[in-house]
Amino acid sequence: MEDNKNETSNIVWHQSDITKEDRQKLHGHKSLMIWFTGLSGSGKSTIANALQHELYKDGSSVYLLDGDNLRHGINRNLTFTEEDRKENVRRTAEVGKLFVDAGVVVLAALISPYAADREQARKLFEPEEFVEVYVKCSLQECEKRDPKGLYKRARLGEIKQFTGISQPYEEPQNPEITIDTTVMSVKESVQEIQSYLKNKIHLREEV
Ligand code: ADP
Repeated sequence: MEDNKNETSNIVWHQSDITKEDRQKLHGHKSLMIWFTGLSGSGKSTIANALQHELYKDGSSVYLLDGDNLRHGINRNLTFTEEDRKENVRRTAEVGKLFVDAGVVVLAALISPYAADREQARKLFEPEEFVEVYVKCSLQECEKRDPKGLYKRARLGEIKQFTGISQPYEEPQNPEITIDTTVMSVKESVQEIQSYLKNKIHLREEV
C-alpha cells in the first residue's frame, strides 16, 4: 500500500482538453450518478433496469452498473468481507465517476451496506451529481421474494456473509429518494425517480 501511495504521488493529472461540460453538450443533457442501495431482493436491479429503459427511450445516454455483473469482471477478485465490500463500492463509484465525466447518466445498483462506504462514494461527485436512492424493503419481504434463492442458502449456512442475515445493513439517513417497494410498484418507483430527475438532467439550454 505504502509503495502504491509513493508511486501515485509521482503521477501528475493530465488535463483533457475536452471537458465534462463539452461531453454533456454532445449528449444533450447533464450527467450524474444514481446510486441504488438496499437489501438483496429489495428491487434495486429491477427498478434500475426499468428506469434505464425509460431514460433510454427518452433519448438519454444511460448506463447501468449492476453490482452482480461487475463481480463477473472488474470486481471478480472481491469477496463479501467488510473490507472487500468497501472496495467493491469504491471501484464502482470510481467507474461511475468516469461515466459521469463522459457525460453519461449512470445508475449503480449494489447492496452497498455500509453508510461510510456510500459517503465515500458520494464524495467523488459534485453535490448535485450524486442521487442516493434507498430501495427500502423489509427483510421479511425480501426473504419471501428470494428471487435468487440466496436467503434460503444463507439460512442454511451455505452462504456465510450475507447482508441482513449474518452481516448488517446500515440504512441511509439522508437519501435523496426513498422507495418503499413493499407499497410501491416498479412503475410507480420509476415515475417517482423520473420526476425527481426532471429538471436535473434535461437542461439542454443550460449545459
Ligand atoms: P436486488 O437488485 O435489490 O437484489 P432484484 O431487483 O434482483 O433485487 O429482485 C427484486 C425481486 O422483487 C424481483 O423478483 C422483482 O420482480 C420483485 N418485486 C416485487 N415487487 C417489487 C417492487 N415493488 N419493486 C421492485 N421489485 C419488486
